Amino acid sequence: MNQKIVACGKKIEIGTRVVLWDEGFACPNKRGRSTCSQHDPKLNDAPSQKDSAYKILNPALAYQELTQRVHQLVLHYDACYSSHHCHQLMEESTFKGSHFYLDLDGTLYQTCDLYWKTNTAPADDRQGNERAIHVEMANLASEALACESEWLPSDHDKYRKRNGQWVLDLPDRFQKKILTAGFKPTPSRTYGERGYFSKKINGRMIRMWDFTEPQYQALIHLCIGVNRLLPGIKPQVPFDKKSGRHPLDRLKNYAKFAGILGHAHVQKGEKEVTCKYDPGSAFNWPRLKKALEQQAKKS
Ligand SMILES: [Zn+2]
Repeated sequence: MNQKIVACGKKIEIGTRVVLWDEGFACPNKRGRSTCSQHDPKLNDAPSQKDSAYKILNPALAYQELTQRVHQLVLHYDACYSSHHCHQLMEESTFKGSHFYLDLDGTLYQTCDLYWKTNTAPADDRQGNERAIHVEMANLASEALACESEWLPSDHDKYRKRNGQWVLDLPDRFQKKILTAGFKPTPSRTYGERGYFSKKINGRMIRMWDFTEPQYQALIHLCIGVNRLLPGIKPQVPFDKKSGRHPLDRLKNYAKFAGILGHAHVQKGEKEVTCKYDPGSAFNWPRLKKALEQQAKKS
């Protein structure tokens, strides 16, 4: 079972299951980073090419460049049932992609070498993808609530309480594709009787059930691993020392922040980009912060 992630052919062990693109999902729409030089510049912001067109000329030089250019890991929810569902949407698009998907059962998928750019979060300055790598975490977010679903309309909420536990109603076609057989998607934490969390992000109230426990565990491994592979991505998340809180809105210094942050932290909708809210109101920032600090003490 592979537990490695890859940048410029260099692999490191992260201590959790990773399915690489040759065995899982290959990014259908990767691009060259305009700030890196070890590829044909025609691949930058060009229509998607065949996989064989994406060649890294000198991997050692490419790795040096990449470590200097990339300083953000951006967290997303995918608004999908599962990573299989998310990948279907990427394939239907002519430009969308994400370096990693994190499935409900904690399986990570890496879809291409981190040298390449994926169009996942332009950010308000439209330079966001040049400096970042991305993970799309499976979670329906607002789509789970019947009254808020837009692209997956339904007459009932997609989570139900069974024997006192909230469970995602996962259609069979997606359940079959989860690598852990019989996996039951339940939120890691719930809020009161209603189960879902609700907080305002970039001006909109975001209601969603939490990510699963295996997703948090795998994400922590990914964040620590990514920092070892690309040290420009510092093991830190947005945190306001004065208030002791994690900001949820777009940050003032979003382009310069070096570390792990959310799509909402870099994009509230300026210069014709859309306003974003992910990874959303349920995401447990204090837990991720604590895990990163504990790791820093160990090493
Ligand atoms: Zn996003």
